Amino acid sequence: MRKIAILGSTGSIGTQTLEVVRFQKDIQVVGLSAGKNIKKLEEQIREFSPAIAAVWDENAAKELASKVADTQTKVLAGMGGLIELARMENCDMLVTAIVGMIGIRPTMEAICSGKDIALANKETLVTAGHLIMPLAEEHQVKILPVDSEHSAIFQALNGETKKEVNKILITASGGPFRGRSREELSQVTLEDTLKHPNWVMGKKITVDSATLVNKGLEVMEAKWLFDVELSQIEVVVQPQSVIHSMVEFQDGSVIAQLGTPDMRLPIQYALYYPRRRFLPGERLDFAKLGSITFEQPDTDTFLGLPLAMEAAKQGGSMPTVFNAANELAVQKFLQKKIGFLDIYDIISQSMERHQVISSPELDEILAIEEETYRWIESRW
Ligand code: NDP
Repeated sequence: MRKIAILGSTGSIGTQTLEVVRFQKDIQVVGLSAGKNIKKLEEQIREFSPAIAAVWDENAAKELASKVADTQTKVLAGMGGLIELARMENCDMLVTAIVGMIGIRPTMEAICSGKDIALANKETLVTAGHLIMPLAEEHQVKILPVDSEHSAIFQALNGETKKEVNKILITASGGPFRGRSREELSQVTLEDTLKHPNWVMGKKITVDSATLVNKGLEVMEAKWLFDVELSQIEVVVQPQSVIHSMVEFQDGSVIAQLGTPDMRLPIQYALYYPRRRFLPGERLDFAKLGSITFEQPDTDTFLGLPLAMEAAKQGGSMPTVFNAANELAVQKFLQKKIGFLDIYDIISQSMERHQVISSPELDEILAIEEETYRWIESRW
């Protein structure tokens, strides 16, 4: 029986991973973790009986430990807890469904202890792809994408070699504000931003989808995952979110993966790769759908994508600054402390002042993250 641990089991990807496990019935969950939502984590512990449950917040961890004292689950706290979960024996795969750069260190620990990674936490590859990919190769572990776009590319590439690829076409819905002007964006509220047209996701990624920062992060993630040049990656807006991404090959063939917008599909594909399983749910009805349309992204209005491309072009530590600035800006936007367009200002000003380090070590990446946060806090 396949054994998995989940970083971020109480979130959108984490709970959908557990839905797949619940339905398929032949995966054992040996580790669970959360930031502070111990109510949901306790329910999950009672249902799945993991050996370890790690909670970031120390006080919440203590409270949980007393609540589940009648179970066999060991409760751990803080980064030490996440690392112990990532390193645990008797576990084949770590699902990285945590949000933010906090996922980097546990992911590296899991790779070093020989576990395959089902990767949802894109921030890991965006900021530390140059460390993660060689490490995975050294330890012969698979990095299996969970992000729907990357899963689509991964599925389209099945059986093909890298040199046969001409370009990767990452599709984007365009988010809730597609077609709006910059002037209109200055008026949008948090509530408008959280209404994604096609996907139900965690709040942070939903805001990132509206700014097109998410698409920028996905471009950087794809560059590392599929070992292609930035110039080989193109973003295409496909508002119905039916085509999850495509690959154009040297002979001009384009292979796309299609499906209804349901994250359980890429999650399940990563969990059982290379096999497919039945997954209940809605199927595409092409006659009902009628048409699938395409547009170019509006990069003059939605600056998340061009800023990400610039960060990726400069490389080294710049994607860390891009990502950290966005993480804090989104947090402030979620707290209604700043407006929608301020997110772009925070990212671009953070990038402007940064001197790129060409191949940063993990400690440098984390120090740059902290420094970026400090600088932003001193100004906004
Ligand atoms: P959510 O916000 O829904 O969930 C985040 C999870 O991480 C929660 O379990 C949360 O715990 C946990 N967490 C947060 N901070 C910490 C911490 N310091 N220590 C331990 N656990 C922590 O996010 P999503 O599920 O939407 O996204 C997760 C990742 O997957 C992101 O990187 C996102 O970009 C990526 N992704 C998500 C998709 C989606 O459809 N949602 C699609 C593709 C990629 P708690 O509940 O206690 O806060």
